[in-house]
Amino acid sequence: MNNLIDDVFAEFADGDEDLRALHSALAEVLPEVAVTLYGDNGAVVPPSQSRHSDDILDQLQERTAKGESFSSLRLLGNRWIHGLQVADYHTLLVLQAEGLDEDLSRNIPLATLYQNSVKLAMLRCQYQEALIENEQLTRRMQVVSSKHTKLLDDNHQQFLLIQEKEKDYAKKLESEIARQTKQLREANASLEAASRLKSEFLANMSHELRTPMNAIIGFSGLLQETDLTPEQREFTETIGKASLSLLVLINDILDLAKIEAGKLELDPAPFQLMDLMKNVEAMFRSQALRKEIKLIYQVDPSLPGSIIGDENRLRQIFVNLVGNAMKFTGRGQIVIKADKVQEDEQQVKLRFAVSDTGIGIPPDRQKAIFEKFTQADGSTTRKFGGTGLGLAITSQLVSMMHGEIELESAENKGSTFSFVISLQKDIAPADSLLRSGAPVAKSDAAGEKGKPTQQRIEDAPVKGDLKVLVVEDNLVNQRLVTLLLKKADCQADIAGDGLQALEMLKEHQYDFVLMDVQMPNMDGHTATRRIREIEASADKDEYAAFAGREKPLYVVGLTAHARKEDERRCYDAGMDGFLSKPIIRDKLVDLIEKVRSQKI
Ligand code: ADP
Repeated sequence: MNNLIDDVFAEFADGDEDLRALHSALAEVLPEVAVTLYGDNGAVVPPSQSRHSDDILDQLQERTAKGESFSSLRLLGNRWIHGLQVADYHTLLVLQAEGLDEDLSRNIPLATLYQNSVKLAMLRCQYQEALIENEQLTRRMQVVSSKHTKLLDDNHQQFLLIQEKEKDYAKKLESEIARQTKQLREANASLEAASRLKSEFLANMSHELRTPMNAIIGFSGLLQETDLTPEQREFTETIGKASLSLLVLINDILDLAKIEAGKLELDPAPFQLMDLMKNVEAMFRSQALRKEIKLIYQVDPSLPGSIIGDENRLRQIFVNLVGNAMKFTGRGQIVIKADKVQEDEQQVKLRFAVSDTGIGIPPDRQKAIFEKFTQADGSTTRKFGGTGLGLAITSQLVSMMHGEIELESAENKGSTFSFVISLQKDIAPADSLLRSGAPVAKSDAAGEKGKPTQQRIEDAPVKGDLKVLVVEDNLVNQRLVTLLLKKADCQADIAGDGLQALEMLKEHQYDFVLMDVQMPNMDGHTATRRIREIEASADKDEYAAFAGREKPLYVVGLTAHARKEDERRCYDAGMDGFLSKPIIRDKLVDLIEKVRSQKI
């Protein structure tokens, strides 16, 4: 039980540590004085000392309540007791001492001395407190700083870890990228190889298909000019027609394959829009007459006469559209229109349209017919023939010209196919006639300028003997070309390859050379390059064909390789013109006429 009271007391006393500290400071400052502190909260320090009676304390309390200085109280036996309110500590300080038995309020110096001693003790306490606080603060600072350091260390460790991981990751990423790049390169290389193979295949296919077609079309044409029974004539005409439509089909398939392989290039050059329209109309005129359909072309008169575009591909588009209109129109009319949409200094925007009054296309088939091998309905092939390739090629060609083909159609009323494209205006119209047209026309530009081509041909002297060297390894072709030349009043010598050709040029004079490209021993490109070298050297005089000539010998490439780059390679080798096989007789005749008229 006692223990319990002591504990409570001790706790209580502990609770007023400030008072105890002040007390011991006072004991140091005033060693000869007995000091007792009575806190507001009931604490008494030192607790062991006998408490003053409540009565005395009340009286002291009362006296000191107002003042800041010592108040003294006289006890029995002439003993004095002194009190002071220490506001900072909420406490009443009571002191007693031997020899201090007087009224301190009357002894100001002594009272001041005691008061200052109390202040000194308080300052010491505060100093101690400050020291402790400082120590605590230092300790806390150390803790915080060590925590901080630990945190920094931790962070640094994490950072190093992350850096390590990042390095790892970057390494992995790099090697992954390297791996994927390698894979892509390999894939790309094999794609390129495949694409090269595909275009080689295309070129070969084109060559292989055109070579026999050359013979079929050429010879059936020649056959039709011989004495035939009516039945034989019908047969040869059928062969001729069938082979021509086979050639159209082959050209369509090759065109589509070229477009899909990204190998088809447009070849823009100046051309006369009106001429193109007239030309298309002329192609279908007899068919229209036969079907009693009106065929009209209308060209906006405000359109510039000469514009720059790929005339041949535009013609192909119109031939497809007008051909279809012809096929699917029983009566009424077909109108080909070219309208101006917009024009600035450089360009003109045109809307081309082909309208008919034919069977029309049901709305649900209007999209599908632009797909390859697709027709509006299954019975079309039976009724009208066709393959469903024309519109696929047409819409691809239009989109290569940055346009889009549109269709408006109503069943049994008719259809309008239209597209809008921008074409460059021909700024130098005087030259345009000479620069336009088929490859043979290239010679026009090199020849006399100023007069339109047509004019020169009309003015040309009547046919005479021209001597032509035909360089060709294929026997059937040799025979066909010789016959065609003979029909055009030309004399033909044959060389089986480039080497033989050079030998013959030593001995004979020729007006021009028809040069096949693919031949054994020496191909056409090499032979032409040799010709140009010899012409430019002192050896020239050893060759009868070059010796007396002012102009270089006219060499025309003749090949079943009909791609744009084949044509370019012929010109690069030094050729002056290019005819593709199968030889269209009219084109050969055109060439001969030009050579005659220009005395090349
Ligand atoms: P093809 O005419 O060889 O069958 P196209 O691709 O040129 O191939 O045409 C596809 C189909 O579109 C035709 O078979 C026909 O059904 C339809 N078509 C095209 N033009 C017309 C038209 N002017 N009038 C009616 N139908 C047409």
